[in-house]
Amino acid sequence: MNQALLELWTNVLIYLEDKITPVGYEAWIKNIKPVNITTEELTLSVDTLIMKSMIEQRYAELIKEALLETKQKVYQVRVITQEEIPAEETEKIMQEKEPIENETILSKFTFDNFVIGSGNRFAHAAALAVSNEPATAHNPLFLYGGVGLGKTHLMMAIGNYIKKNNPSMKVMYISAENFTTELVEALRDNRMKEFRSKFRNIDVFLVDDIQFIEKKGKTEEEFFHTFDALHQSNKQIVLTCDCAPEEMHDLEDRLKSRFSWGIVAKIDPPDYETRIAILKKKAAMKNITISDEVLFFIAENISNNIRELEGVLNRIISYHSLLNQNITLELAKEAVKGFEKNNQKKEVNPAFIIDCCSRYFRVTNDGILSQKRNKELVVARHVAMYLCREELGLSHPKIAKLFNRKDHSTVIHACQSVKESYDEGGVIHFAVDALKKDIEQK
Ligand code: ADP
Ligand code: MG
Repeated sequence: MNQALLELWTNVLIYLEDKITPVGYEAWIKNIKPVNITTEELTLSVDTLIMKSMIEQRYAELIKEALLETKQKVYQVRVITQEEIPAEETEKIMQEKEPIENETILSKFTFDNFVIGSGNRFAHAAALAVSNEPATAHNPLFLYGGVGLGKTHLMMAIGNYIKKNNPSMKVMYISAENFTTELVEALRDNRMKEFRSKFRNIDVFLVDDIQFIEKKGKTEEEFFHTFDALHQSNKQIVLTCDCAPEEMHDLEDRLKSRFSWGIVAKIDPPDYETRIAILKKKAAMKNITISDEVLFFIAENISNNIRELEGVLNRIISYHSLLNQNITLELAKEAVKGFEKNNQKKEVNPAFIIDCCSRYFRVTNDGILSQKRNKELVVARHVAMYLCREELGLSHPKIAKLFNRKDHSTVIHACQSVKESYDEGGVIHFAVDALKKDIEQK
């Protein structure tokens, strides 16, 4: 992060500390990351949508006040979630970091603290096999599953294990997103030779969230060559993804088939027993005793995401340690508030439709709502407008307002053009059908 931004944010925190209760500070403010500041706007990022709406509703005004106090100037405050950090900002952030060691393998993610259960037993066994004998049996190892289920944890556990047992091996961890950013920069600065040697001169290549390269022509191409170079020289490759290789509909076939060459392991959400075991392990790691009653309550209410399970636990622990409150069922009920919503069925509203479209077209929500005109964004935006009309029956002016358009004729035009492409068949037809299915199943 850049120094000026960090200093500014520190001042904001000092200001906020006095105005907010310790619990509020611990639960909401501490986890905010400043992303970017322009002459009129400060962008902050948080992990979840719940946090985003909480900050917007409860704390944005105070943050503005703090900015006014520190900078003597009015700023807007924008809150985004990790997933919606726009590409340019990610690029900016990346430029500020050291080019290569920017992604370190976190030592806290090990096999020792990974709880095995029915949902991840196979993935865990495969990961351990790869760690014991890199590049012998299973190459590549392809791990996939939903958010917060332990893909990154397992991947880093492999990295940590190999680094410990084979110190001479060069292990590299990178997110596919950063691979893309580095490639773009290398192309721009004429540094392709350096780029290639960097990514081919390693023994273990861990690439997180590979779904990100889908539909990014140049990245797919370069990744293909990197993959082949490493695979041919018997180097271990591990990939994680949010879906199975065959479900990456927009990925080149040659990559799709390579992703299935070794072993493909799915991670499913944890069952009840595993959720309890995870909670127990995490509580023990933090030296906190929690009654079974409370653990059962949490495990019943948070069911499909381990990150959220941890989030609730952390909240309980901070209530406990800051307010000296006993860890009672009442306290736990307080702590799961907000999180449990995430597990309920989502309401179909424009935000949900935009979410579905950004995920499908692999763009960001902000991109869809921006004025930018690159092709991917325009298609995603038009389809989202069309679905708001079709699925929610919203008026053109209402949609224009939702999408920050001054003139609703843009919306009429967008809906017509999607409808025409739909009737012609082809990609749009396919996309719209798939999205409608997503929306109806939610
Ligand atoms: P993903 O990459 O699949 O989105 P992560 O690997 O980031 O998920 O996991 C989210 C959080 O849940 C991490 O803090 C991780 O340590 C924890 N976690 C996930 N699976 C397990 C597990 N089986 N045992 C212990 N902790 C887990
Ligand atoms: Mg991950």
